[in-house]
Amino acid sequence: MNTDNIPPDDDKQNTPPPDPIQNLKKQLENLFGGNTKVEFAQPNFGGDFDEAPQDSPPSDSVKRIREFSMRPREIRDYLNRFVIRQDEAKKVLSVAICDHYNHVRRCLENPKLADAEYAKQNILILGPTGVGKTYLMRTIAKLIGVPFVKADATKFSETGYVGSDVEDIVRDLIKTAGGDVEAAQYGIIYIDEIDKIAGKADSGGRDVSGRGVQINLLKLMEDSNVKVVGPQDMLGQMNMMMSLKSGKKPKSSISTRHMLFIVSGAFDGMGESIARRMNKNSIGFSAERAPDDANPSDYLKFAETSDFVSYGFEAEFIGRLPVRVACESLKADDLADILVSSEGSIVRQYTQDFAGYGIDFSITPEAVREIAALAYKEKTGARGLMTVLERTLRDFKFELPSSGIKTFELDTSVVENPKESLKKILSENIGLRHGAMLEDIEKFAADFEAKNDYLLRFDDGARAKLIERALDEDKSLQAVCEEVFRDFNHGLAIVSRNTGAREFDIDESAVSDPGKFLSDLVVKSFKDGKDQ
Ligand code: ADP
Repeated sequence: MNTDNIPPDDDKQNTPPPDPIQNLKKQLENLFGGNTKVEFAQPNFGGDFDEAPQDSPPSDSVKRIREFSMRPREIRDYLNRFVIRQDEAKKVLSVAICDHYNHVRRCLENPKLADAEYAKQNILILGPTGVGKTYLMRTIAKLIGVPFVKADATKFSETGYVGSDVEDIVRDLIKTAGGDVEAAQYGIIYIDEIDKIAGKADSGGRDVSGRGVQINLLKLMEDSNVKVVGPQDMLGQMNMMMSLKSGKKPKSSISTRHMLFIVSGAFDGMGESIARRMNKNSIGFSAERAPDDANPSDYLKFAETSDFVSYGFEAEFIGRLPVRVACESLKADDLADILVSSEGSIVRQYTQDFAGYGIDFSITPEAVREIAALAYKEKTGARGLMTVLERTLRDFKFELPSSGIKTFELDTSVVENPKESLKKILSENIGLRHGAMLEDIEKFAADFEAKNDYLLRFDDGARAKLIERALDEDKSLQAVCEEVFRDFNHGLAIVSRNTGAREFDIDESAVSDPGKFLSDLVVKSFKDGKDQ
């Protein structure tokens, strides 16, 4: 966000919201510099376009909400296809989602209901990084067909001038909905790293971190009206004016009443304090009680409101997050399961990537176990799988597409020593590589003919020399051919003008010294032309 032209404002709460037109004028004047004064011909911006009827028909997303009829079990079953474990979270989220969208549907059917008291099902998900918190919500949003947006709480500041205003996330949601304000009203806002805005007062009692942000978020989670175009969004304001000029009346604000808010965090350290609270009689987080792979975060499921308050949250803020659920840490076996059985597994992506080059990719069960064990050591949940696979397959993804290899099985030797395995696979399949390179030469010749209308006939010597050069210089055959035959279209044009020839035999000497080959050909063509 550009903060250069904006005065610092410590007390945004008490200042009236900036006038968008004045703001835009100021920014344009600053942009043009000097004494430029900007005036708008039609500055009538103050209408009540919120009330304006929407001429456009409801979008698919809105239609789906109007017809929402899912049951929790259906949502849970869908999640099971993608998300491994997290059974409790799946159940709790499925229920909360159904309750929320059933309520929204009823409000749409009977707008009077919208005014009645209703405790919104805003959700707090606890759990370590990479265990599927975001993935669960993204998958649900996709299933229901509502816009979804994610942001980190750490990027918000109380004033919105250093960092973002909490309201920016609502505007981001509208962007995700492709500008469809109505659809965005029923969207899902996911705010991660909420634990990082636990307020801790300094010695002077001043809030040094996120208490102000908590208050602002609280308002947003309840029921706020947010301006569709932010005060700093010059382009958005211009677009809004253009729409007004062309007679359209876009919505100027959006209500957050029917948006669903999910906040999440790892809550480092909270697991230990809950464990201490629960095991008061034992000394600390005792090794005797905890099995080897016990993770303090597994205690987060026992979190109570008082734990959040001690952590630095306003009781009011936590009170507005009635649905709380913890995601478990993932063990090595779970990570293996994710690789093999999740429909969204990263392995599928690799399979598709390799298939794009005609390579049939597979992975042995032993390799799956080994990758999962390495990923577990990364301590980043399922994200560790991506790290390990990327590290293992990086060079394979570079080399295999031009190797002529059509099947590749990832086994334990590849996991243990990727570089050596790659070398071995490439040398064992050198014949295939030659085959692939020969195909590349034919392809170059075909492209050359299509472009220049001259047929190049390579003999075996020329082919061998081109392949040798590509291997020596570690270049693709395409690059070598383009370099060697760079001037051939011009040279052959002269030859063709003199002799009428359109087909040329290319031998080893053409590859070794293309300049001499071409000039000999040209000289000869003048002679031949004269003789004719
Ligand atoms: P976080 O818990 O930090 O929000 P994410 O949900 O963003 O973690 O997980 C990162 C990626 O790891 C997901 O996009 C998904 O591919 C994979 N992943 C994480 N947890 C699971 C799980 N339980 N089952 C299947 N895949 C998972």
